[in-house]
Amino acid sequence: ALETPAAHIAAAEDHGAHNYHPLPVVIASARGAWLTDVTGRRYLDLLAGYSALNFGHGNPRLIAEAKAQLGRLTLTSRAFHHEHFAPFVTALADLCGMEMVLPMNTGAEAVETAVKTARKWGYRVRGVPRDKARIVVAADNFHGRTTTLVSFSTDPDAYRDHGPFTPGFTVVPFGDLAAMREALSAPTEDGGTVVAVLLEPIQGEAGVILPPPGYLRAVRELTAERGVLLMADEIQSGLGRTGRTFACEHEGVVPDVYILGKALGGGVLPVSAVVSSAEVLGVHRPGEHGSTFGGNPLACAVGLEVVAMLREGHLQARASRLGERVQDELAKLVAAGVLTGARVRGLWAGLDVAPGLGTGREVSERLMERGVLVKDTHGSTLRIAPPLTIEEADLDWALTQLREVLTG
Ligand code: PLP
Repeated sequence: ALETPAAHIAAAEDHGAHNYHPLPVVIASARGAWLTDVTGRRYLDLLAGYSALNFGHGNPRLIAEAKAQLGRLTLTSRAFHHEHFAPFVTALADLCGMEMVLPMNTGAEAVETAVKTARKWGYRVRGVPRDKARIVVAADNFHGRTTTLVSFSTDPDAYRDHGPFTPGFTVVPFGDLAAMREALSAPTEDGGTVVAVLLEPIQGEAGVILPPPGYLRAVRELTAERGVLLMADEIQSGLGRTGRTFACEHEGVVPDVYILGKALGGGVLPVSAVVSSAEVLGVHRPGEHGSTFGGNPLACAVGLEVVAMLREGHLQARASRLGERVQDELAKLVAAGVLTGARVRGLWAGLDVAPGLGTGREVSERLMERGVLVKDTHGSTLRIAPPLTIEEADLDWALTQLREVLTG
């Protein structure tokens, strides 16, 4: 029997592939923003399942929907209709101001679906010659782990030794409008035609990187002028995290395609979706794309409640308000010289620990000893992304721990 955390960790090392480097804590249960480990010790969660748990652990509304649905119907496959499919796709399309939804499971699958959709739209609607569709993406992107998606990653850890890669992508620096304009104007090297721009409105895994003000809006104008789809990967930035339903809203931008995941399943189960117009998603015909579990009854029941919570708007407002406290505190830490940078949008922050104070991993471990769980993202960068339901006093306490760890 695995009786101690050390025994769990040793067995995980022996029998689980080493594709992650978890903090040495073994969680047994959770409620709201608090986690309890197998020894009964409590920790405050400042990661929220990489923003899948925006509504908190064990959110009573989501758990109630899931439990009710577990006893009724969990899977039909898309071979038949089920009673939650139409309500879910209707509500999600409405939340997004769009017409159609194509539900999948994981984020990577949704981005894959968007890539396939944009290409097919290019061939069937825009008349691009077969196999000539190109998609422009940003450097330092993170869109998921499939072979096609790592084909246009600029992070060697993500793509090294996974080739041969999928062609048809042009990478431009994130936030560089001139480079984007060039990529959309110049003939592409293979005589291809750009059909879409795929961007994270704020780059999450890269360290919560905000583009320069006006960039997204300018890309929106440029793509509209050129008849190119703007596809916003809001898998991490969306659904309340930044203080708005979508991060694109901060610049008044409406993309052609939203790509959603993570919090769409409320941290209960994987639910993702591509949301767009009938012109764009209408290109798919029966048998041309799909997923056994995509749009299953359990996913739709939970997803529908997620959409209902987002419609109410309380969590977006809360993210905005609590984010101001984070912003104030991090600004002080920058002024004190213990952070070299801090980027905050809503309840989402990327902070760069000053050299000499330890790696992101070391700072995460010191915070863990104090009962606060965060995770480094790249080298010396930490991300703060608690459940949006976190109590103010708990957030303040966590920020105090951060200050003490960095200044103490
Ligand atoms: N896109 C973005 C912006 C993400 O942050 C992530 C996950 O971190 C993904 C896609 C991939 O999602 P998943 O891990 O569910 O495949």
